[in-house]
Amino acid sequence: MYDFVVVGVGPAGARFARRAAEEGYDVLALEKGTVGEPLACSGHVSTDIWDYVPDAAREELFENRIYGANFYTGGPDSDAHLFYKSEEVSNVIDRVQLDRTLADCARKAGADVRDGHTVTGIEEHTDHVDVTASIAGEGTAKFEAKMVAGCDGPVSRVRQAAGLPEPGETLHGVLAFTDEVDHTDTVDVHLTVPRFFAWRIPRGEAGVEYGLAAPPGDDVTALFDRLTEAYDVDTDRFCSGAIPIGPPDRVSTDRVFLLGDAAAQTKPFTGGGILYGMTAADCAARHVQPDRPTSLDVYESAWRQQLSAEIRMGHLIRRAYSLPEPVQRLGLRALSGEIAVHMDKPSSFFSKAHLKRLVS
Ligand SMILES: Cc1cc2nc3c(=O)[nH]c(=O)nc-3n(C[C@H](O)[C@H](O)[C@H](O)COP(=O)(O)OP(=O)(O)OC[C@H]3O[C@@H](n4cnc5c(N)ncnc54)[C@H](O)[C@@H]3O)c2cc1C
Repeated sequence: MYDFVVVGVGPAGARFARRAAEEGYDVLALEKGTVGEPLACSGHVSTDIWDYVPDAAREELFENRIYGANFYTGGPDSDAHLFYKSEEVSNVIDRVQLDRTLADCARKAGADVRDGHTVTGIEEHTDHVDVTASIAGEGTAKFEAKMVAGCDGPVSRVRQAAGLPEPGETLHGVLAFTDEVDHTDTVDVHLTVPRFFAWRIPRGEAGVEYGLAAPPGDDVTALFDRLTEAYDVDTDRFCSGAIPIGPPDRVSTDRVFLLGDAAAQTKPFTGGGILYGMTAADCAARHVQPDRPTSLDVYESAWRQQLSAEIRMGHLIRRAYSLPEPVQRLGLRALSGEIAVHMDKPSSFFSKAHLKRLVS
């Protein structure tokens, strides 16, 4: 009987597996494919990311440093409104390598991390959970756990099997790359997509990424073609993925709990979830005790205490994406310039430092 079976080894699962193993728990982490693949993420993260990986990994993961963003209400030929900081706002990193690095950290901490194990069913009992996995070319295997951590991404099988609520909304994100070497230090954001945005991210030697996300029902391929035509580029390595927007009312039962995208722990105004998922994973590792189902209530309130005000604020910011264009232009003109906002903490918009900048 494992203390925890972790389903899915993305950032949230790998981080929880590592931290729970460091707490001395017996942890099995199952990944359906190969850790890190397929890619469906920009890997654009605040510099807080470096608190989660060993220093030695930095060189391998780092692609470019970003100091700000140019916002446009139209295409690349429309007026740009620059928001910037004098220090780095964020970094662009190799997302595939990030997942591998985090999984290695979990292994080093003592977690048993296995590729090629697709979890096909979980059955919750009063004192344990049965987990069934299909192993590529080898049939099925059964595992027993005191608790299961569902870290299996936006379309979570664990969430469904446990009867937990689906995210309020799921966006469809797409991205692709060109080989242009670009070390510039700003990303481009186009408010040209219904209720979200399109982007261009310079990735240093790794090329340039073009992408967007949109609510269901919008033709993301047509919107993507329009974006790349406006930039006059041909892209390759097209990727696509779901972005859950939450938070749901509940992310745990008696012996099953969700983390990361499975729990819709994302930023509603960017879709970013790497750091929120790992923040929640740390909350879970700190509070969840496999022999005490009531500890899951503590996890529920702990992660919400850390993230839900930011998520609420993120929803408010996102509303601005749907304002009429002239109002957007006025707002961008009024607010652009030097900022003191943390990319993962929209509440820092109201910080003394930022308000001072705004006034000045
Ligand atoms: C187009 C796009 C761009 C994005 N850009 C950014 C960005 O720049 N910055 C950012 O912070 N976030 C970004 N995100 C969001 C980010 O990718 C997610 O928030 C993050 O990956 C969530 O991590 P996770 O560990 O919860 O889930 P995932 O990374 O999705 O990991 C889940 C893992 O579970 C595995 N799995 C699924 N089902 C099973 C099963 N049945 N059995 C075993 N394993 C299973 C999957 O293979 C996967 O490895 C982007 C998302 C999209 C779609």
